[in-house]
Amino acid sequence: MPGSHWNPDFGAAASAVALPVGPDLSCLQDPELFFAESPQDVEQAKALCRGCKARIACLAGALERREPWGIWGGELLLRGAIIPRKRPRGRPRKTDVAA
Ligand code: SF4
Repeated sequence: MPGSHWNPDFGAAASAVALPVGPDLSCLQDPELFFAESPQDVEQAKALCRGCKARIACLAGALERREPWGIWGGELLLRGAIIPRKRPRGRPRKTDVAA
């Protein structure tokens, strides 16, 4: 099973503000979505984070912990770093495709 957003450790960023925790967090209502494979689901999870009051602290904590993957604070993380988007499965093309 991938990591879990349950009882996330927001790290040092959490000390300054009261953060929402518990079932109100979108990532706790549908945790699988935040570790999704499809690019559409990844974008949906990122959109759900945009309205979360814990977003900044969540992202800071995830970067501090170097989360291996998943959506944290509205960003897609891979091996502890933010990446812009998830690559689809399969081999990369050998040649560029004309637009
Ligand atoms: S920002 Fe996203 S991943 Fe982080 S606690 Fe909020 S809903 Fe969950």
